[in-house]
Amino acid sequence: MAAARRLWVKLKLSSKHLARFPRFDAPVPKSILKRITHDERKGASPSISSSQRSSPAPDGTGTPGPSNNTNSTGGAGGSGISQYKINVGLKGDSTSGLTMNSINPALYVLDKSGKPCRRWIKKQKQFKSFTGFKMKYTKYDAQEPRSKDVANVGSKAGDGGVADSTDKFMKNQQIKYGFQEVVTPLIFKTKLWKKSGHWDNYKDDMFKVVGFDMSKEEAVEGSMEEHEYGLKPMNCPSHCMIFAKFDRSYNELPVRYSDFSSLHRNEASGALSGLTRVRRFHQDDGHIFCNVSHIDAEIKNTLNLIKDTYNVFGINEIEYYLSTRPEKYIGEIETWDEAESQLKKVLDEATGKGSWQIREGDGAFYGPKIDVLLTDAFNKKHQVGTIQLDFQLPKRFDLKYVAEDGSRDNQPILIHRAVFGSLERFFAILLDHYQGKWPFWINSRQAVIIPINNTHVEAAEKLQRTLSGDIINTQDPISPLTGFNFHVDVDKRPETVGHRTKDAIQSGYSHIIMIGDRDIANGTFSIRSRDDRKVSNLTADEIYQKFIDLEKKYM
Ligand SMILES: [Zn+2]
Repeated sequence: MAAARRLWVKLKLSSKHLARFPRFDAPVPKSILKRITHDERKGASPSISSSQRSSPAPDGTGTPGPSNNTNSTGGAGGSGISQYKINVGLKGDSTSGLTMNSINPALYVLDKSGKPCRRWIKKQKQFKSFTGFKMKYTKYDAQEPRSKDVANVGSKAGDGGVADSTDKFMKNQQIKYGFQEVVTPLIFKTKLWKKSGHWDNYKDDMFKVVGFDMSKEEAVEGSMEEHEYGLKPMNCPSHCMIFAKFDRSYNELPVRYSDFSSLHRNEASGALSGLTRVRRFHQDDGHIFCNVSHIDAEIKNTLNLIKDTYNVFGINEIEYYLSTRPEKYIGEIETWDEAESQLKKVLDEATGKGSWQIREGDGAFYGPKIDVLLTDAFNKKHQVGTIQLDFQLPKRFDLKYVAEDGSRDNQPILIHRAVFGSLERFFAILLDHYQGKWPFWINSRQAVIIPINNTHVEAAEKLQRTLSGDIINTQDPISPLTGFNFHVDVDKRPETVGHRTKDAIQSGYSHIIMIGDRDIANGTFSIRSRDDRKVSNLTADEIYQKFIDLEKKYM
């Protein structure tokens, strides 16, 4: 296989083509098929350029992300022409007559006559073994305002859909489990990182920040390090500082802080991979300050939250690993042994004996940890949730609390935990998991309203305001903070209803609502789901309530 050459045909598509181009599992427009077969006949097209080939993710099957997006519209000279890459198979390979057209995340395989073989869309693994080479993703560059599912979450923000919903979901769970959300700075002086032990044990994975104008620094005798800062790779030291800020009593424990701020780690450039390994990311990070008697319950709670959360997303294949003392560690061996045996006991109780595995020497430098791994749609394992016991950091920050007997010299124990882990990585896993068909509650395209003709647009926009909830529909000058607000668009294009309906399904809208004369006369709307042709006639309030029910059930 090593000698086989992969051909990339780079097609130039006009915005007209792109507007017609499907997002997910839909046939590819004929005009594009013609171009493919034409290029295939010609063999290497003049438009192929090795420098224009997209570079695969390091693992060859990596989840699409910023690194392999073709993300600049008008990339071919800025003339409104965009480029689209299509893999036409391996030269000399028996499958070279096949064309694989991969639009993230669904796959299209075209046979020799140019028809998409739908069966391959569902049987990707077979496709991989059939052709003998790994699937490769390219994200197409559509010029539509909301085609940002992948591109947007590179910086977490998302388009108000998936990333926001998963954030909100976890923030609500953390409130339920007694966490206080805190916001902490991004940079801290090296003094802090030395205190936390990161400078000695984790410096190579951190980014250093130095000001250009040293006169702004306070005059400190000694080394330059006094004027250096580190971008935070973890939130723990700042949470320790908050804990240390006030006198603490035994009856306050456990104190739980959560933090969603961005973290930076200096990963090797070769290790970067789509959204699954990035240098700037966000965690649903949490730290629990407690005493020995709380450890069992806190870890069990976290394991339960992990199981319940993944269950909401329909992910049931979860693996648990206990990572033990690494070569580079801080603290005493006895403390490590005690912590490891505590975690073993809790794992046995929460997940069942024999349902977890040990990773010798893979713990964090400050304590042993439980790692939770998921397997993605392509059989690749990803570490997501984590629970880490830490006896060292409270010592380094000299954290204390007053015990019931009035003694003041009591050190809390710190538990680091995350359920999603990296939100970017979890998003990538979900993207593969759902194959672009997001469930309603996290979909950024929850519904589209199609007015039959111009006279129905006003009614369509009125319904849009109703379904958007209080934020848009309020009569008050300022929108309220909470409520049920759904992402609903109106498709007013002068296209046929059939065409707009097909577009809506291909674009991944969960529901399609149509408005015509009869609907307006009846005071109802015709609504159908993406996956079912059955049409119901519901009033605006009934649709709004239906959406609330779906969101409440995480459907
Ligand atoms: Zn931590």
